[in-house]
Amino acid sequence: MVFHFGRLRDNKTIVQQGYPMPELPEVEVCRLSLLPALAGQRVTGVRTSTKDLRQPLPAELHHTLAGRRIVDIIRRGKYLLFDCRRGRQRGWLIIHLGMSGNLHFVPAGQAPGRHDHFDLLTNRPILRFTDPRRFGLILWHDGADPEGHPLLAGLGIEPLSEEFSGKWLYRAFRQRSAPVKNVLMDARTIAGIGNIYASESLFRAGISPLRAANRVSLAACLRLAKTIRETLQEAISAGGSSIRDYRHSDGGSGCFQLEYAVYGREHQPCPRCGGTVRKIRQAGRSSYYCPGCQK
Ligand SMILES: [Zn+2]
Repeated sequence: MVFHFGRLRDNKTIVQQGYPMPELPEVEVCRLSLLPALAGQRVTGVRTSTKDLRQPLPAELHHTLAGRRIVDIIRRGKYLLFDCRRGRQRGWLIIHLGMSGNLHFVPAGQAPGRHDHFDLLTNRPILRFTDPRRFGLILWHDGADPEGHPLLAGLGIEPLSEEFSGKWLYRAFRQRSAPVKNVLMDARTIAGIGNIYASESLFRAGISPLRAANRVSLAACLRLAKTIRETLQEAISAGGSSIRDYRHSDGGSGCFQLEYAVYGREHQPCPRCGGTVRKIRQAGRSSYYCPGCQK
């Protein structure tokens, strides 16, 4: 059983663009797929490669983790947090997939390849972290609260949480004169929406990515909060169904099969008005939008 988390329509896209970065829905689908297999499992060992990821792997990770029980896996932004306990001792294995990372199960005894950087050993198949570009992270945080880790402490609101709403967005946008797309992409404001879902949510809400955040009306913010939830939730559902399919398949790699209205569709017709989808650069990232539908 091997999962690759991409968002690709066809093999042609894979060849042309490589795997796009895992975003919130992919990480959530990853969490949902790992949890039933690993919850309650005791860690019997850890194997790490000598290469550094975005940060070096923690020293002594084997001694830190061996013997601990994984009681839960939660997600914060694009971080996966494994709640690992030994008696009353609590600590968190923190994994970020970076730009090209993926977690998958391989049979016990299968030797790691050159892009495999971390194995978590339990009585289940090996959980293996593969990351060709090595922008991912494997970290450890001691204590009961993972938010105490510096990388998590500054993260913004969870877009799928109860607290996230149109009113919340409206308040958050008041002080920001940057383009609304850039504010949506700022993880210190909202955790992990990502480029694809920011473009798609703005299209569905009829808001131009170029509009200054503090010039988005309350009514538009209410629409936007709804479309952000919808696009993320739809992607999670699609990923969940692809996992169910692949579980019954030959174990080959699988990708999300999602169609986007504007993302990656420069010069193609807008599905709503038939106008032409435009691509621009904002804060170093591509934004796609329909100038006819998005004001
Ligand atoms: Zn349009």
